[in-house]
Amino acid sequence: MISENLRQVEQEIQDSCALASRQRNSVQLIAVTKASDARATQAIIDAGITHCGENRVDAFLAKKASVEAREQPLSWHFIGNLQRRKVKQVINEIDYFHALDSLRLAAEIQKRAEHTIACFVEVNVAKEASKQGISLEEVPDFIAQLAVYDRIQIVGLMMMAPIDATVEQLHELFHQLKQMQEQIAAQELSYAPCVELSMGMSNDYPIAIEEGATFIRVGTALFKA
Ligand SMILES: *Cc1c(COP(=O)(O)O)cnc(C)c1O
Repeated sequence: MISENLRQVEQEIQDSCALASRQRNSVQLIAVTKASDARATQAIIDAGITHCGENRVDAFLAKKASVEAREQPLSWHFIGNLQRRKVKQVINEIDYFHALDSLRLAAEIQKRAEHTIACFVEVNVAKEASKQGISLEEVPDFIAQLAVYDRIQIVGLMMMAPIDATVEQLHELFHQLKQMQEQIAAQELSYAPCVELSMGMSNDYPIAIEEGATFIRVGTALFKA
């Protein structure tokens, strides 16, 4: 049941925050609704979720139109690969974009955005051939080149860990992204405060929290039967 799943995830978040001596409110839970229908999405919003994540343009637009926020406003996160030709359909409908990984995409966002867009740079920390994202080494130069796009605000870095990584490897990969985030943040760039870390999914979010995640993206653990 969704409310019971949410209760369990919330407990794990609290335990991980305690373990890492972090405040609970330093971590935001994004409910990834990509495999859930509008009804299940509404149910989790009614249960208290205020951040939703989607990775497909059509499904996102349909869901956004059919669900209602409750006590608090709802934030929408686009967490998937976004084709340039679809940027104009979604970019002004979302609160955060988690998958910026090319200058061509940045240029398209700049062209279509009607206000500043909060973006995460997606980093392929483990250098997996199957994954989107730039390599860790490319991050400083890539961010430097984004300075010309005044409609793009780099709020942080995002990663997906390999699904077969060991606990030790997960700690190391998340830690590497944290170090890069701190390196960029230390530059105090007005267009790239880079204070956030979007990392951690159903299988690894407790470890991501221990390593400094500020947004975790959780689907299966919330919506499983
Ligand atoms: C699907 C997805 C998630 C959530 O994955 P779960 O394992 O279901 O929690 C998180 N981030 C991205 C980018 C995704 O595509």
